[in-house]
Amino acid sequence: MSARVLIVDDLFPNIKLLETKLTLEYFDVVSAMNGPDALAICEKGLCDIVLLDVMMPGMDGFEVCRRIKATPTTAHLPVVMVTALDQPSDRLRGLDAGADDFLTKPIDDTALMARVRSLVRLKAVTDELRSRAMASRVGDPLAAAAAETGHNANVLIVEDRRSAADRLSAALGQYHCVETVATPQEALERVKAGEYDVVLVSLDLQDHDGLRLCSQLRSLDRTRTVPVVMLADAGDRARIMRGLDLGVHDYLVRPIDRNELVARVRTQVKRKRFSHSLRESVQASMDLAVTDGLTGLHNRRYLDSYLAGLFSEPSLRDRPVSLLILDIDRFKSINDRFGHDAGDEVLKEFATRIRSQTRGIDVVARFGGEEIVVVVPDTALEAARQVAERIRERIEAAPFVVQRGTCSIDVTVSIGVAARQAGDGEPGALLKRADLALYEAKQTGRNRVVAAAA
Ligand code: GH3
Ligand code: MG
Ligand code: MG
Repeated sequence: MSARVLIVDDLFPNIKLLETKLTLEYFDVVSAMNGPDALAICEKGLCDIVLLDVMMPGMDGFEVCRRIKATPTTAHLPVVMVTALDQPSDRLRGLDAGADDFLTKPIDDTALMARVRSLVRLKAVTDELRSRAMASRVGDPLAAAAAETGHNANVLIVEDRRSAADRLSAALGQYHCVETVATPQEALERVKAGEYDVVLVSLDLQDHDGLRLCSQLRSLDRTRTVPVVMLADAGDRARIMRGLDLGVHDYLVRPIDRNELVARVRTQVKRKRFSHSLRESVQASMDLAVTDGLTGLHNRRYLDSYLAGLFSEPSLRDRPVSLLILDIDRFKSINDRFGHDAGDEVLKEFATRIRSQTRGIDVVARFGGEEIVVVVPDTALEAARQVAERIRERIEAAPFVVQRGTCSIDVTVSIGVAARQAGDGEPGALLKRADLALYEAKQTGRNRVVAAAA
């Protein structure tokens, strides 16, 4: 995943050093040597993530960060504060200014790449959410992305040393709901069963391999979307690298700085939540593509592909199936007398009543205008005719009350029914017979069911 990294530092050699490392990993680099230039680059949308030196003459890093986070057009940009190792209090100030993560000078290569990759992933999901929100024109996507605090998450800590677990728990408990377990088995069970937003795994468990747990969490279907962060000793570089290769999202080095901990957990929580919203919006747009907006029934496109399957799937081709075409009687005059909006309401109620008389396995789809098709699988003609008769009665039984109770409209329906025959090679043949039966129902007086001859 490529991204444009903005390096902000008042010393040119520092910029050069970071630029070399990042370019080697195929990131694009832009740079600024003071706060105002950095802000201008951010506002023009020329970068995806900011590495920000704290110590700069004029506007310092904290102020630059505060301004990035306070400006609606840049608030979603991830900011990594580069602080001095001997100034842990800088991290607290950084968090207050809205920083997303920290690096300490001299910058360690593994840490640099882990931080940048983790935040680039966050930025990628944020951007996708924003573009979807813009496409669907709902709400203010920038405000929504900036408003996610990454707080109130469910955090699971896998750590068997009581004191370490307590310390982590206390630091995170301020913002999140925290649980602790001591073994990988317990951890797996809980994560499979529960809704965790992030799991912290110690790589130094007494009798267990924490890295193996990380790998399992990253590969199991039930758990793979949950962010995993390793807790490791600084000397354990090989296993940290291994974990990152296995897809572990990030790591923390002991002794764990509580502000770093808070920041890193927050980033993972945000990314998880944004990814979740994205999956939901993809699902919603898939639902939209197969659903009729007015009635909530399946649409014609869905019906066509469903019927095609019934005729092409070897396991379904030879099973009985029947099909009903329903058409409201004299619907045009309902529109004429009560208005198009009332007509729409009648259509919705029509759909609801039909659904109340069908099974979950039956497919009810809006075929066009005021025509609805019901496909009844594993059902022969006579049984399907009875379903149709039941629907006809249900429509006729009580007037449709619309326009907030001001109109009461008598509605009837004509229904054509047909069953698949041996010679039907494709859905068209079945639809055609049902349509002819419907035509006959209309011709012979409406408000009736006609079944095509078997
Ligand atoms: P028949 O008994 O022969 O079916 O008479 P009809 O008036 O129902 O038949 P026709 O097919 O001539 O008219 C259907 C009408 O349905 C015409 C169209 O304006 C109306 N219609 C189609 N789709 C909608 C819709 O989504 N909303 C509303 N309100 N009316 C619709
Ligand atoms: Mg009609
Ligand atoms: Mg019609």
